[in-house]
Amino acid sequence: MGKTGDARSRALERCGARIKRDAEAFGAFGSGGRVKEAVYPSDGASFVEAAAILSGEDYVVLGGATDVLFPDDGYDGTILSTDRMRDVSRSGDRIYCSAGARLPQVVAKCRKYALSGLEQLSGIPGSVGGAVTMNAGAFGREMAELIVRVDAVTSDGRAVAFGADALGAGYRHTSIAERGLTVLGAELKLCPSTRKEIESCIAGFEERRRASQPQGRSLGSVFKRVNGVSAGYYIDRAGLKGTKSGGAEISRKHANFIVNNGGATGADFIALSELARKTVLEKFGIGLEYEVIFL
Ligand SMILES: Cc1cc2nc3c(=O)[nH]c(=O)nc-3n(C[C@H](O)[C@H](O)[C@H](O)COP(=O)(O)OP(=O)(O)OC[C@H]3O[C@@H](n4cnc5c(N)ncnc54)[C@H](O)[C@@H]3O)c2cc1C
Repeated sequence: MGKTGDARSRALERCGARIKRDAEAFGAFGSGGRVKEAVYPSDGASFVEAAAILSGEDYVVLGGATDVLFPDDGYDGTILSTDRMRDVSRSGDRIYCSAGARLPQVVAKCRKYALSGLEQLSGIPGSVGGAVTMNAGAFGREMAELIVRVDAVTSDGRAVAFGADALGAGYRHTSIAERGLTVLGAELKLCPSTRKEIESCIAGFEERRRASQPQGRSLGSVFKRVNGVSAGYYIDRAGLKGTKSGGAEISRKHANFIVNNGGATGADFIALSELARKTVLEKFGIGLEYEVIFL
């Protein structure tokens, strides 16, 4: 790397970011080629500085990478990751989560604090930043319902804060991506409860998840619901459960999941998801919309 590269690396390190070059594949599906560079700021201030240093370069912000399929031939840009920004703190019935805190970690903290509201989301492996941005949800509870305030940064480095009414939240969607914002943290409002009650709720939702969803490597739901009906219902009725491509398979347990049985590539995932999309369109006239994001 030349002098400019060295100066850039030093600037990133000075702001508290760690750098990993030629990083191995990202993404919960476990496929994908190598990534040219991944940058891990230590906290919100470090993130803002790192983003300023990377401005004008090809980079993408990721949290847990649990909803993103990486290209098989690698990613020739920079991943700016919130993964080290995991602080969670409490003030009364509110908690403040840094963007990189994972939902299971946040739910565990809420259990400790005896604060209820997030139990339904305990099985979602992503980060708070990703979950706020995508308005993640499960079992009738959506992230947006709990939000008091989101702290974010604009693409030109301005700090902004806004409440739930300015989220533009809908089903698995907010306006955060369209506005070019990165979530740095979010304040959530919960309800006082007891640890015992929260534990029993979490156990119930986890049991429902285990009974209906596969345990292997996946990106969760491949497609969004259609008028409240799981895309899996149509994929199942199209007879596609158990269909394989290389190491990938349309789950026999839940047809809206594509699982990596070992050695699956992104191309295998796309072959199966496109087969499902085309077959459901042909058989039922329904156009499925991807929930998974393709980098
Ligand atoms: C086994 C499994 C089960 C799942 N179950 C559910 C479920 O029940 N419900 C559900 O809704 N989802 C589910 N998911 C999908 C996923 O976990 C959620 O969508 C989660 O919110 C994504 O968070 P992430 O940090 O992994 O996002 P990433 O995959 O890292 O990123 C997703 C998108 O969000 C953007 N993003 C990430 N962080 C930020 C940030 N700080 N600011 C701005 N943009 C950001 C990225 O650029 C990208 O466009 C599941 C996934 C898996 C693997």
